[in-house]
Amino acid sequence: GKEGNYTVQTPQAFRRKDLLAAFEKETGDFPDESSLYLKVYGPPRIVESTPANRKLTFREDFGVCRAGNGYDTHAFTAGRPLVLCGVHIPYEKGLLGHSDADAPLHALADALLSAAGLRDIGYYFPDTDPRWEGADSANIVRAAVRLARERGFAPVNASISVLAEKPKLSPYIAEMKTRVAKLLNVPTENVGIAATTTEKLGFIGREEGIAAYACVLLGRASGENGG
Ligand code: MG
Repeated sequence: GKEGNYTVQTPQAFRRKDLLAAFEKETGDFPDESSLYLKVYGPPRIVESTPANRKLTFREDFGVCRAGNGYDTHAFTAGRPLVLCGVHIPYEKGLLGHSDADAPLHALADALLSAAGLRDIGYYFPDTDPRWEGADSANIVRAAVRLARERGFAPVNASISVLAEKPKLSPYIAEMKTRVAKLLNVPTENVGIAATTTEKLGFIGREEGIAAYACVLLGRASGENGG
């Protein structure tokens, strides 16, 4: 530590015989056993650790992580752009919806709200509200992040699966990851995006639409920025 100061974690370990002898010898007030040990035997041995291993004492020390999941589906339609995770993907069809119909971002917004214990995307961003007509769904995700932050939580990582028979998404995954990481204000490596077909089965296999699942982890918001 700087200038000889340490943050000390629990447990501290002692030889039982030595510690009991120290208790016999000293009757003064000590904030903890290591202070007593220090008085009797001199400095204890210090073992470096990680802040992640801190003692759970207060209510805020518990329940620091909240998981949430979300799902969304949109049908393909001609004459609309295809936007997935905020990335425009060249394709003959787009997705039908009130906003830009970015299914993975809608699933992500639902996952964020769910993890924070809030209501779903339809509650906060109803498709009867003209504000969200043709909206960039990135704004919906940003609003969901803000709502979670008001509850004291901020994204830690996110995992998204996009189910689509076509088009092939692998050339766009890196850009999608970058976009999502920026929206969530997390490092790019904290975002995972998988693309899969459904082996020609069901509505996705028939190329009638796509679906997306999202899973997020929220941690305690540090509070230094409003997102
Ligand atoms: Mg949707």
